[in-house]
Amino acid sequence: MKCPNCSGKNIGKIGASQYYCWNCFIELSLENGRLSLSQVEEDGTLTTLDDLFEAKDLEAKANGF
Ligand SMILES: [Zn+2]
Repeated sequence: MKCPNCSGKNIGKIGASQYYCWNCFIELSLENGRLSLSQVEEDGTLTTLDDLFEAKDLEAKANGF
């Protein structure tokens, strides 16, 4: 598994289909073969980062998920 954002491999599983990149501190959730990336803000809310990426970069398989 690698992070689509930083290409880091320091990814931990935090839920059934949720992962966390300890390198760039973003949350990754796996849905229908696709990754969704979110940044966790200081107040605990999530901001999506998906619009920063091309659809192909978020394919789960392409990132080893
Ligand atoms: Zn990362």
